[in-house]
Amino acid sequence: MTIPVSRPDISELERKNVQSAMESTWISSSGSFVDSFERRFADLHGTLSCLSVSNGTAALHLALLGCEIGPGDEVIVPSLTYVATANAVKYCGAEPVFVDVNQEDWNMNCEQVKDAISSRTKAIIVVHLYGMPAEMSRLRTIADQCGIFLIEDVAEAPFATRDDTMTGTVGDVSTFSFFGNKVITCGEGGAVVTNNPEIAARMKLLRSQGMDPNQRYFFSIIGYNYRLTNVACAILDAQLDRLEEMLNRRQQLFSRYEQALSRLDVGLQMSSKDVTVCPWLFPLLITQGENTRSSIIKKLREQGIDTRPFFYPIHRLPMYAAARTYGSLPITNQLAIWGMNLPTSSAFSDSETDYLVAQVERIFHQ
Ligand SMILES: *Cc1c(COP(=O)(O)O)cnc(C)c1O
Repeated sequence: MTIPVSRPDISELERKNVQSAMESTWISSSGSFVDSFERRFADLHGTLSCLSVSNGTAALHLALLGCEIGPGDEVIVPSLTYVATANAVKYCGAEPVFVDVNQEDWNMNCEQVKDAISSRTKAIIVVHLYGMPAEMSRLRTIADQCGIFLIEDVAEAPFATRDDTMTGTVGDVSTFSFFGNKVITCGEGGAVVTNNPEIAARMKLLRSQGMDPNQRYFFSIIGYNYRLTNVACAILDAQLDRLEEMLNRRQQLFSRYEQALSRLDVGLQMSSKDVTVCPWLFPLLITQGENTRSSIIKKLREQGIDTRPFFYPIHRLPMYAAARTYGSLPITNQLAIWGMNLPTSSAFSDSETDYLVAQVERIFHQ
């Protein structure tokens, strides 16, 4: 048996919607599924606006441009995240400033964020890492006190909650990814949501090549083509119909992993009654160190089970070697060596799940 880290969950409903988009011939970037998905996704987040975009990286780029981030500006970001978070800052000609994460929730350290803010700081991008909602309300307060923007990168934690607040509802703009390994997917895709009408209008203009909304085929600024297709939105619309079912199935797998690993010396994600995580790719820490982690990854691979190590810290990648950081980011460096993700998908069959959990239990107990 081979089990990938993730598998898209495509049912009859997704196929039916795609077929219907095809038959309508609306396969490009307008159509009823685009409208339906954007309206429903905005409603789920209680926001004024949702724009579907071509991927999660484009979503981050648009969010920053929507907040008018540009050359000379600084944006505070965690180093323990997917590289797109920092790259999007560079696309705007701005500079990322890296802060460390907390030992507990593996998310941005708010004290360091506060300290790292300079006269050039224009925004904070908070990443809800590995399904764990970050301290949104504290970051909201810091951003408001300093008069800067808060952008949420929700790619890995849609519909998670902390203190009854859902991810993606606190930032000035929040960004999502619908890549094939994310909780809801259309292969490649993304979205931005916002309550700010000016930011929404700017992002809409930039998404569509800068074409003047009042004068077709007249371009007032240099924009991008970051639109998503009606075919992709047909898939997303079906995924929203099945959201609860998919999240429940992922949650069941999470619970089985937790049980299988419960009496072992592995670091599990923080658990708190005030937090509901998004069951993305089950994360854990092998605190015995890198060799033990490598050996576990190898043993699982020999059984056909794929895994992934935590992100390599961005501040140590060659293109960010000269970036400003808040000290040496020791917790980021440590977690990057200890952490790994186990396969998670709502599309794994019962027999695949049984096999997966049994192998994990056996190998971790060795
Ligand atoms: C997946 C991801 C993105 C965006 O990825 P795309 O592949 O461009 O859709 C951005 N940030 C984080 C933290 C991610 O995990």
